[in-house]
Amino acid sequence: MNLVCIMCPVGCNLKVDKNGKDVVVMGNRCPRGAEYGRNEITCPKRMVTTVVKINNGTVCLKTDKAIKKELVDDCLRFTKTLKLPKKIKAGDIVAKNILGEDVNLVTTEINYN
Ligand code: SF4
Repeated sequence: MNLVCIMCPVGCNLKVDKNGKDVVVMGNRCPRGAEYGRNEITCPKRMVTTVVKINNGTVCLKTDKAIKKELVDDCLRFTKTLKLPKKIKAGDIVAKNILGEDVNLVTTEINYN
């Protein structure tokens, strides 16, 4: 698998091969790239950011950790069902352990109309 490492602006071209449990990453200039390549081929994860409407504006949300890539769509659907408290501020955790994962949803910005 050929990948571009997204862990820093350098953007190294990685070649990642998996042979059974062994994963070999080539092309990385640092250990972060090796870890990224290994994770991408075994259990890719992504941070999720989104915006949800509230009565008088919008709230920006993000996951506090990367979530399994296969759960990103479910995570976005979940955010649409959230009942947010009336008093809310940036940095509040509005949902814990979403989708049974050790990942929380956090507010990053509130915009009022
Ligand atoms: S391998 Fe290291 S230097 Fe290269 S893009 Fe990834 S983080 Fe940056």
